[in-house]
Amino acid sequence: MDTEQDLETRLDHVFESIATAARRAGRRPEEVLLVAVSKTVPAERIAMLARLGVRCFGENRVEEAAEKLPAVASLLGHTAFGTLRWCLVGHLQSRKAARAVQLFDQIHTVDSIGLAVRLDRLAAAQGRVLPVLVEVNISGEEAKYGLAAGGWPEAVEQSAALYDAIEALLEQPHLSVQGLMTVAPLAANAEAVRPVFRRLRRLRDDLARRYPAQPWTHLSMGMSDDYQVAIEEGATMIRLGRAVFGPR
Ligand SMILES: *Cc1c(COP(=O)(O)O)cnc(C)c1O
Repeated sequence: MDTEQDLETRLDHVFESIATAARRAGRRPEEVLLVAVSKTVPAERIAMLARLGVRCFGENRVEEAAEKLPAVASLLGHTAFGTLRWCLVGHLQSRKAARAVQLFDQIHTVDSIGLAVRLDRLAAAQGRVLPVLVEVNISGEEAKYGLAAGGWPEAVEQSAALYDAIEALLEQPHLSVQGLMTVAPLAANAEAVRPVFRRLRRLRDDLARRYPAQPWTHLSMGMSDDYQVAIEEGATMIRLGRAVFGPR
């Protein structure tokens, strides 16, 4: 198992790489939020990373988060735990939405009107407004979740369906849509996925013009193998698992 020193070394390297990529793109490193994706990582190591100053964590399964978050809380103490933010970065099935709303501060994977309506109702019952990102399937791969955007903007029908879905999400009063998220395809090298990140950003810019009442601040894109490219293309949240915690 990693020592705290191993984690710190990796984390230092990640922060240097974030800064290098940001400067290359004329951006400030502080514009990029690290989301440490802690799926499969035991609570002890999550707590270690939190003690090193990381504040934002991502999990991809509701059940796993339900088990680990209380364990992290008891390791850190409730005051320190209260300063952490938890993002759901994996697909959310409607039947698990209630648990997800209890556990997570932000959901990156709103990918259907049905799920949005369910989350809105649950957030309303808790008297809160839930920050969410809209997951978009930019690459058009069949196995991927997200609103279909493979044909945007050229394919008129698919684009109209995409805008209709976005408008339905924006109508939910207890959801605060803060931006877009995508999962890029697996690729032999990071350059190969640059067009996917660029398209997500272009879509975000288009939506910001169409629906200016929303902030559209966030682009959650980039993982361990391609986050520097994602930052060059405008990522504001990068979701890193292995780059921070080591191989799974
Ligand atoms: C696992 C996962 C990540 C992190 O993947 P790494 O390649 O380990 O950085 C990011 N986003 C999602 C949705 C994931 O499931």
